[in-house]
Amino acid sequence: MKERRGICHLCGKYTELTFEHVPPKSANNKERARLLTGKEIFDTKKLSTGKSLRYINRQQGAGNYTLCRECNNNTGDWYAKEYIKFANEIGYILTNEIDMKKAKGIGLDSDKLYFQRIIKQILCMFLSTIQPEYAMQFKDIREYVLNKDEIKFDTNKYRISMYLLKKYEISHSGVMALLIKDNGKAVIRKVAIMNLYPIGFILEINPPDKEMDDTTNITKFTTLKYEELQKVVMKFSITEKYSLHNFTKKFIK
Ligand SMILES: [Zn+2]
Repeated sequence: MKERRGICHLCGKYTELTFEHVPPKSANNKERARLLTGKEIFDTKKLSTGKSLRYINRQQGAGNYTLCRECNNNTGDWYAKEYIKFANEIGYILTNEIDMKKAKGIGLDSDKLYFQRIIKQILCMFLSTIQPEYAMQFKDIREYVLNKDEIKFDTNKYRISMYLLKKYEISHSGVMALLIKDNGKAVIRKVAIMNLYPIGFILEINPPDKEMDDTTNITKFTTLKYEELQKVVMKFSITEKYSLHNFTKKFIK
């Protein structure tokens, strides 16, 4: 196979890149993926009319050549396994224990999950789904993910929120800078959205105080230790996916 060289989105080395599954292979990402090209995603007219979009076939599931071998192996060992447990537990509840037509959310009561590992996997996936030049700018997030024992994370600068998805969907937005009208003032919101069935995540950069509707703020888990188990009792909303459309009403044209 042709060697793919580039900048590792995590450590920043220019080297041979390996395929990083987003989400991990065992978390609903074994099937052949159909990837929408960026151009197609931003053709919002097409999206709203429901016309079919052009796809790129990927035999190995959703993901891309974004991490060097070392980073791919390390994050796989340290974080992905825990994320897979978490995603599959949620998937099990959604498909077996509730009525998806009626349920508005689920409660999670667990003391068996290492949430710091889950958060680091989520951040690693965010880094993998943005352009390498852009990933380099998030030096603080990269350093946080590169060291499994790191517990320093700027919880004022970043907010990570989570929701559950009604329908199968794997998509991600990359980091978007949106110019939004807020109380008559123009403000820039920086957000990245990942819909990784059965879970969706939003990363906000310099977030406003008000949290997004129907989401659960999970940023606090960034300060847990790698080996720390914590009793977690949380509610997660089951919702339609988040997308650019959630902001479009306030868009400045
Ligand atoms: Zn690397």
